[in-house]
Amino acid sequence: MLISDSAYCTKCVLKRNHPGVVFKDSGECDLCNGNSMEIYLDKYGSIVDGYETFMSSPPVSHGDYDCLLMLSGGKDSMFMLNKLTTETSKRIIAYTYDHPYESKYAIDNIKEIGRLIDVDYISFASHAKYKKMMRKVFLSVDKASVPFKAEKIPCAVCSSYLIATACLMAIDLKVPYVLYCADPVQMLGVEHELKKMIQSLAFHLGLDFLEELLGRKAVEILEQDSLDLPLVVFPYVSMMGSYDREAIITDVKKLGKLRPSSIGTMCSLYPLLEYYSYKNYDCCIDSLELAAGARNGALPRDTLISMIGEYRKIILEIAVKDRLGDQDMAAIRDFTRKVHPESEVEAELLCHKIVSLRPVAQELGILNDFLVSEVDLRSKEEDEFLRSTRDIGEDF
Ligand SMILES: [Zn+2]
Repeated sequence: MLISDSAYCTKCVLKRNHPGVVFKDSGECDLCNGNSMEIYLDKYGSIVDGYETFMSSPPVSHGDYDCLLMLSGGKDSMFMLNKLTTETSKRIIAYTYDHPYESKYAIDNIKEIGRLIDVDYISFASHAKYKKMMRKVFLSVDKASVPFKAEKIPCAVCSSYLIATACLMAIDLKVPYVLYCADPVQMLGVEHELKKMIQSLAFHLGLDFLEELLGRKAVEILEQDSLDLPLVVFPYVSMMGSYDREAIITDVKKLGKLRPSSIGTMCSLYPLLEYYSYKNYDCCIDSLELAAGARNGALPRDTLISMIGEYRKIILEIAVKDRLGDQDMAAIRDFTRKVHPESEVEAELLCHKIVSLRPVAQELGILNDFLVSEVDLRSKEEDEFLRSTRDIGEDF
């Protein structure tokens, strides 16, 4: 089946209304014709510089640690922690922001890795503030300005907040480098300078709320240029050409009783993120990554386009229902098996994530303000239309 629908880029799977992506008359998106590569090349260059500065820096003389590594309990941070402790002499402190939507897999992995690797560890939590921040982000959508990656705003705000808390912890501990273990694709999508991260948080949350969340120090970072700030380092830049997800999972499993499953360790807000991006921007939250796969031929374009459409229906019309019947569950299972034909366990984990859409929204306190079934919305609009035509009829 060839999908030649003019709604999509002729080369990848981006829709013509994808946030912040410009399309040529030929139907090709700017990412496919290479016009947006300069931004990525600049960013890549500065990430490489940061990594080289960190690797070549001598041991810190004024403190106990050379770097703080953000340990999320996912495969990438566990693999990197092990790699750096075995291959370098860097003195590492592992840091976790214990947020309320962490998966059980990730929590268990962090406990287990603490037993397997001899490293100092510190964690920090502020559940009430975290929830207040995510409520605000999910509920405030600026339809007037739709920048590139608008569909990922809740994810970006959360990442910036987590990295900022790690940096503030590093400032207290006098640690000059903060390691964030995003994979080579993810790292290009994340802001990499602390000051810019805090600026972006201030933009999305407001200055007063930023101070409430991160304290006075965060505002000082915005106001003063002379502060000596930790450098955020992306260690996976060293594996830019050799990153192999499956090999990393295999290596992590060899360390001990760890469960490095990508879906298993995914944060439980994920279904809300999917809903947010389909509902507000008519795209799957992973569209950019899937488009990159279609562009380089790793993923079949037509299959992806039909799966993205199917997923949209599952999130906006099925998962959003307050009661899921047997038919609904069968449709969700059918879809998750198509996404993970090789693993029944991963398919079931994804199914569990999807059906948790409403319970998670309820727990966060945004159920009624955030979730609206597309089917309900359509029938409400139809009712209103019928009522308005009846009123007009009565007037005549
Ligand atoms: Zn394209």
